[in-house]
Amino acid sequence: PGKVEFRDVHFSYDPNRKILKGVSFEVPAGKTVAIVGPSGAGKSTISRLLFRFYDVQGGQVLIDGQDIRDVTQESLRAVLGMVPQDTVLFNDTIAYNIRYGRFGASEEEVRKAAELAQIGPFIDKLPEGYRSMVGERGLKLSGGEKQRVAIARTILKAPPILMLDEATSALDSHTEQEIQAALDLVSKGRTTIVIAHRLSTVISADEIIVLKDGQIAERGTHAALLAKH
Ligand code: ADP
Ligand code: ADP
Repeated sequence: PGKVEFRDVHFSYDPNRKILKGVSFEVPAGKTVAIVGPSGAGKSTISRLLFRFYDVQGGQVLIDGQDIRDVTQESLRAVLGMVPQDTVLFNDTIAYNIRYGRFGASEEEVRKAAELAQIGPFIDKLPEGYRSMVGERGLKLSGGEKQRVAIARTILKAPPILMLDEATSALDSHTEQEIQAALDLVSKGRTTIVIAHRLSTVISADEIIVLKDGQIAERGTHAALLAKH
């Protein structure tokens, strides 16, 4: 399961300015579609509509053929996972922050997820060190490390559908490569929508959609799009 469809989706935050003007695409179960385009094109809006932070004003968003307005918020969230641009962590151990992905998980599962995301050694630490007053050493996680915690959380949750919103954009290129490898691991076999600025980060996507000014300007594989330019 996990097919995602946007059918002729229209949306605006304010009535005088249309953000999405009839966007249609399909992500077959288990496939990866990348959405690229300039800042302000409406990419993150697509993510917000999938999570139903807002409802479409025209058209439909469907998961496995069902309009997402017809499912409960709870079951929608159960099938969706997200690795956001900026991860805000709870002031609790990294282990707790990972477990948040699936509270029923065992210690062993949490540890495994942490290792896969290469955050294993930090598992008992606190993200900000705020408890240092009571003698507990925390640490200040870097952006890349927070991203790994978010990835470990998602590995643990193992949602059928995954949204990666410029998940590696805030990182230096070495960290980006490592994180990219961990993300590839999470998205393997899952329906994945990747939001990216650059074509070069989404080479392996099954389809790339170029969004411009709220409409799909181009679509195709990485090779096909490169050949056109
Ligand atoms: P992208 O992810 O492609 O950079 P977004 O989907 O975040 O673009 O935003 C598309 C446009 O909608 C932008 O011009 C942005 O300023 C505007 N926008 C985003 N969120 C809001 C909001 N909550 N209210 C009004 N305008 C918004
Ligand atoms: P839960 O999964 O326990 O309901 P949240 O309520 O924090 O957790 O978020 C629900 C889902 O929405 C999570 O997968 C989370 O990562 C994702 N999410 C949180 N913030 C955003 C955002 N700004 N844009 C898109 N998805 C988000």
